Amino acid sequence: MLNWLIAAIGTLLDDIARNPSDLVAVGLGVPGPVEHVSGKPVNPPIMPGWDGFDIPTWVQQQYRVPVLVDNDVNIMALGERSVNWPDADHLIFVKVATGIGSGIISGGELQRGADGIAGDIGHIPISRGAGIPCRCGNMGCLEAVAGGPAVVRQLLAEGVGVATSSDIIALVKEGNLPAIRAVRQAGRDIGEVLNMCVSIINPSVIVVGGSTSQSGEHLIAGIREVVYSRATPWAARRLTIVQSESGPGAGVIGASLMAIDHALSPDRLEAMDMAISASASASA
Ligand SMILES: [Zn+2]
Repeated sequence: MLNWLIAAIGTLLDDIARNPSDLVAVGLGVPGPVEHVSGKPVNPPIMPGWDGFDIPTWVQQQYRVPVLVDNDVNIMALGERSVNWPDADHLIFVKVATGIGSGIISGGELQRGADGIAGDIGHIPISRGAGIPCRCGNMGCLEAVAGGPAVVRQLLAEGVGVATSSDIIALVKEGNLPAIRAVRQAGRDIGEVLNMCVSIINPSVIVVGGSTSQSGEHLIAGIREVVYSRATPWAARRLTIVQSESGPGAGVIGASLMAIDHALSPDRLEAMDMAISASASASA
């Protein structure tokens, strides 16, 4: 896959008629926890074999520039904020798809935590989860109850013919009642965990993205129902809960921003300035 990625970088450079030497940094996201400093995935549950794999060094075999790796939800949070909420210094981006995770921006900065796990809300236990096993090995996690595959299972048990999250979204858009009920309930389950996040982080905006969020307002309505009714009045008074507007592009924008921020950081600019002065004095 990384070979494909390296080839894709080459194609992108060709498309805009640039040389590899024009590249200053690469930003990319993976669907799992990442130790941001080293760019290595940390026990990613849905990426078997990737634990501790040195992604930056692999990419640098071809492109000798800084390679910044982060969790996909973190870069989606960065992208969504920059495009739609540039003034929001306290924002939570929730991705609802096969898994459920969040990217937390607090005090204007993305919060990764000590090991890159911050925002991993999918494995917080919820009240409706009693006795339901999760792929992480625990019982009753949010993801095991409200993730895409869990909602598919619930609908199959009710005799509704679905196989994927896309099927659920299509049914919701057709007005299928069991599908709407299941998505709204998933929203309430997510709201139960987000309510705790509201108490801890006090965000002004919660943005909901990921494939399941494309089912429209039913998921968001379930989240709002629980968060607004349970959060303390002071935490909820200025809290906005909305669907992502950047869609699938949020991650790409966020990864680009991560690369740009690094390239334009004071340390990098100073190093670039010294390199230019050195080459100027050498040619003189
Ligand atoms: Zn779990």
